Amino acid sequence: MNSESITIENGELTVPNYPIIPFIEGDGIGVDIWEPAKKVFDAAVEKVYGDSKKIDWLEILAGEKAYHETGEWLPQESLDAIKKHLVAIKGPLTTPIGGGIRSLNVQLRQTLDLYVCLRPVRWFKGVPSPLVHPEYTDMVIFRENTEDIYAGIEFQAETPECKRLVNILQDDFGARGIRFPETTSIGIKPVSKQGTERLIHSAIEYAIEHKKPSVTIVHKGNIMKFTEGSFKKWGYDYAESQFKDQVFTWGMYDNILSTDGIDAANQAQEDAAAAGKVLIKDCIADAFLQEILLYPKQHSVVATLNLNGDYISDALAACVGGIGIAPGANINYNTGYSIFEATHGTAPKLAGKDIVNPSSIILSGAMMFEYMGWTEVAKLIENAVEAAIASKRVTFDFHRLMENAELLSTSEFGDEIISKMN
Ligand code: NAP
Repeated sequence: MNSESITIENGELTVPNYPIIPFIEGDGIGVDIWEPAKKVFDAAVEKVYGDSKKIDWLEILAGEKAYHETGEWLPQESLDAIKKHLVAIKGPLTTPIGGGIRSLNVQLRQTLDLYVCLRPVRWFKGVPSPLVHPEYTDMVIFRENTEDIYAGIEFQAETPECKRLVNILQDDFGARGIRFPETTSIGIKPVSKQGTERLIHSAIEYAIEHKKPSVTIVHKGNIMKFTEGSFKKWGYDYAESQFKDQVFTWGMYDNILSTDGIDAANQAQEDAAAAGKVLIKDCIADAFLQEILLYPKQHSVVATLNLNGDYISDALAACVGGIGIAPGANINYNTGYSIFEATHGTAPKLAGKDIVNPSSIILSGAMMFEYMGWTEVAKLIENAVEAAIASKRVTFDFHRLMENAELLSTSEFGDEIISKMN
């Protein structure tokens, strides 16, 4: 096989027929889910393309496996491989305790400047859900991945740095809100115009390309006016200046809640759709968490900051079946660097038993194939996962919530998915 790297020019990926794709197996249940997932990916590619296309999988190390083999949690060689081949996929990674690394995932996102955390959330027929109408939930979250309170600029209370910062804030900037200055820790929340614009750009472009009706900017700008409030304002300004002919903007300074608000929102959505435009709107984060339960049809593409995005992603995932099935990716659309990943953790108590649900990494793989332009492979995998779940032959997490279901192991469920590709 004459395998090559994926390349990028002017934001466009060129994908060879035999691309090299680095993978990180992952810690804990990573060993259980990776092999069945790889088998599903290879089967889907073969089904669609025969011998004319094939993935050349390249194992790279991170997490516990890397630490045991190299003494490092995230070897430079692994980062270099992702930079060289652009597209990678990973299982879950243990968060090291002590040792100076806060989180390997955060480190990967920041080192590679993967500014979009992309989380599609939709219901697959048959998946147990706490909602009456889980089929109404169909959203794609664009969570900003590099800024906000997650930037890691934090100072521990009672350290000399923190005391100095508290003094500067009080004495030089007149900050009056530090109630207990002697015992206060400080975290800094950077939010920039550039960071906002590149996220909003990706979200609107995605909405246009995928014919989605709207982009909701979710924020807490009513309270944090210069960070979250600016995110909202810069977002609208960018949409109006850069996508003038393709969008309608609505509710510039209003929030959409209350019955009247919903009527107005429906009207705005209809007007935008009739004009063939994407509706750009906004919603305050706490209200948004109500809206995903009360009016899920109101929201399609969602653009939000890092912390809000963290909460919203898991809340939405829970609405449609939980984190065992939710896929995700971290992407820089300019450099092309991208890591597709299982969104759940390492679940150590379930590891090595061949019992967990591999759907999260398998659906992340489907996202990866879509990103690469191998859309038929992506669709085949999604449809096969849906058909496997609908057949009620499932892993323990779904089995315990479904009536008359048959219990399968992780590897058997992977084979069940492959059998549904016919
Ligand atoms: P977790 O590993 O996601 O596990 C929490 C629970 O979720 C499990 O006990 C299990 O619930 C369920 N679960 C997770 N994945 C599942 C799957 N594939 N199939 C079926 N059920 C699944 O979260 P955690 O226990 O908070 O974190 C453990 C470690 O993972 C920590 O070191 C954490 O930092 C790390 N982590 C990594 C990532 C990542 O790499 N992306 C993300 C989150 C956490 P039941 O026990 O109820 O069956």
